[in-house]
Amino acid sequence: MKHMDSKNNPKILFLRPFWDNIDVSVAHIKATLKAVKGFGSLIVFQNGRERERLRIIGDINPWRKYGALLEKVYDILYPQNNLILIQAPKESWQEEIIKQIQDADIVIVHLAPKGGINTEFDEIRPNQTPTPLFDYGINPVHESGTGYGLLRELDYCKQANSLNKVIVLIPNIFYPRILEILRILKTTQAGQFYRNTKDGFVSLTPKLSARDQSLGILENVNSIIPYQSFGGTIFNFHIRQALLSFPQLPQHQQSNLIINIPSNPVKLPPDDCLKNIRYTPIKRLTKIPNGEIVELSFGEVKQIYPDLENEPLECPSCHSDSKFMFWYKYGLEPKLTTEHGVYMRCQYCGHDDYL
Ligand SMILES: [Zn+2]
Repeated sequence: MKHMDSKNNPKILFLRPFWDNIDVSVAHIKATLKAVKGFGSLIVFQNGRERERLRIIGDINPWRKYGALLEKVYDILYPQNNLILIQAPKESWQEEIIKQIQDADIVIVHLAPKGGINTEFDEIRPNQTPTPLFDYGINPVHESGTGYGLLRELDYCKQANSLNKVIVLIPNIFYPRILEILRILKTTQAGQFYRNTKDGFVSLTPKLSARDQSLGILENVNSIIPYQSFGGTIFNFHIRQALLSFPQLPQHQQSNLIINIPSNPVKLPPDDCLKNIRYTPIKRLTKIPNGEIVELSFGEVKQIYPDLENEPLECPSCHSDSKFMFWYKYGLEPKLTTEHGVYMRCQYCGHDDYL
């Protein structure tokens, strides 16, 4: 068995939230570099002017021309880092991230709450006020506090069959929240539960956004490391322990991820059935329905059901607007008939509906 060593220089991709300011960003990159030292090079997406603050391996010493002493001082002030910074334009960050996830030997994901480490979280509970009329909207959608981009990235790790190389770092303060989410996801796997009481309907289970349902992936990652202080001794110890637990370099499982609108029906998660996605780029879908399906535009849905025009267009469960509504029919051909009905899945809360 071959342990990872710097000779074959494994690639360690570091994914993190993008709301940190430049000081935090630079501090986290430096701390992670220290933790993975000797294991490989660190690949990081740039979120600002990190490059000006970090000296990357291969960068020349600009003080060399002022003499050997200053050259040495510069080397001490700005030691060279085994770091690759990547600048991804807004329009193509998904493509670039997927490429790097597929290419990396290890992926380290920093899952931190959006409000920072001083965020306090209320318990996620369903609304307990009974309503006489049944309305999905009585149960509000909760969010974990994890950034949208990072949740997408976790999804991409799953789609690229890469969960076995993912190490997740979670601040101690956020860890109970994540466990709470995982518990809720287990309970609501079959759907939401409501009870009909004498005062009306009461929701029994809390509802999570479709995006947060990506957190279910955490059950299958290589390791989760809760930490007290980012870059502390125990933090470093746990990361190195996790890296050493890879007995050999994980095998690349190259899979061709499709992220835009394919020209033909393609096999997609969650069940690997053929799906004819015609309007929504696949990278924007959070909850793809099971079975052989064909996507319809809302215009096509209106051709099938002309009365729909006057309906308010929002998800009946979370009241998100029409851009979250994914319309589809079963089968692969977009037949504009009422046969077998038309279905909608909300890409925000995951609610299913049909006409
Ligand atoms: Zn919804």
